[in-house]
Amino acid sequence: MSYKAEYIWIDGTEPTARLRSKTKILPDGAELPLWGFDGSSTNQAPGGASDCVLKPVFSCPDPVRGGDDRLVLCEVLTTEMEPHPSNTRAMLSPVAERFAAQDSWFGIEQEYTFFEEGRPLGFPAGGFPAPQGFYYCGVGNDEVFGREIVEAHLDACLTAGLAISGINAEVMPGQWEFQVGPAGPLEVADHLWVARWLLYRIAEDFGVGATLDPKPVKGDWNGAGAHTNFSTKAMREGYEPIITACEALGEQAQEHVKGYGADIEHRLTGLHETAPWSKFSYGVSDRGASVRIPWQVEADRKGYIEDRRPNANCDPYVVARLIVDTCCSALEK
Ligand code: ADP
Ligand code: MN
Ligand code: MN
Ligand code: MN
Ligand code: MN
Repeated sequence: MSYKAEYIWIDGTEPTARLRSKTKILPDGAELPLWGFDGSSTNQAPGGASDCVLKPVFSCPDPVRGGDDRLVLCEVLTTEMEPHPSNTRAMLSPVAERFAAQDSWFGIEQEYTFFEEGRPLGFPAGGFPAPQGFYYCGVGNDEVFGREIVEAHLDACLTAGLAISGINAEVMPGQWEFQVGPAGPLEVADHLWVARWLLYRIAEDFGVGATLDPKPVKGDWNGAGAHTNFSTKAMREGYEPIITACEALGEQAQEHVKGYGADIEHRLTGLHETAPWSKFSYGVSDRGASVRIPWQVEADRKGYIEDRRPNANCDPYVVARLIVDTCCSALEK
């Protein structure tokens, strides 16, 4: 007998990569084979030498098709079996490996926005809904838009065995968040990419689009981020390493901002619970800082930090690499 394997990969679209997938029928019990695709259709190869290679790196049950069917997240390789330039996972692996002894954990808060007929779900045709104030964690038909999709996505992530840890309605109508983690750097990023694929795939069945656009509505409406919570073993055991990590992030601030998602300057304006992209700050309980030390962490003198800067459209392989590299290097000293 056979089953369906949905091979998922990250393409070469600039400046923000997109997800692609296609289906392979495999005999039961077979190992997941390498596969290929037309890189000239994904901005990953020229037409004259178009073949790219898919290498399975993570697989889980397919909650959409069910049964024995699988989702298969892949890295993209060249035909020389080298990581493709768009393969940011291959750049994270050696960094995660080098600092493995510090036992990094990540929890990523993925915000996103549903769109229908060209406007956010819950926005009236040709106008605006009531201003922000009641939508965040709201309940009721006048405040919440798309809950049936969100619930279906949550169930799908759980069935797939992803490390999803929660969901909430966000500040703008049609805007939501799910959290993945805590988990190690490769695992959190793999799970987040598959959870994103499931979000698009499930919203498709409801006739709704989901976007990671960091500023889906201009003006006095919150953007969409991917707050990244981070700790090492030392940070989970003491407060001094927490401060060391914050100071280290400050020293590399501009390099980080460049890797935290396209159009980040449209979101990190200093308004709407953000710090300006050009000025690094950290503080206890401060949702207007670049990096927040949760209140409980200061009280307990140990725990984790929240880097509030990554955009919703960030690549978690890049974000995790930058944070592990910067913080673990500083903590090693
Ligand atoms: P917020 O109050 O900013 O909305 P959330 O509850 O949405 O926070 O997300 C917090 C995230 O932090 C969760 O994904 C959680 O798993 C993660 N987290 C908790 N403890 C740690 C830790 N020690 N290291 C890394 N991440 C953590
Ligand atoms: Mn063909
Ligand atoms: Mn949150
Ligand atoms: Mn949020
Ligand atoms: Mn947060």
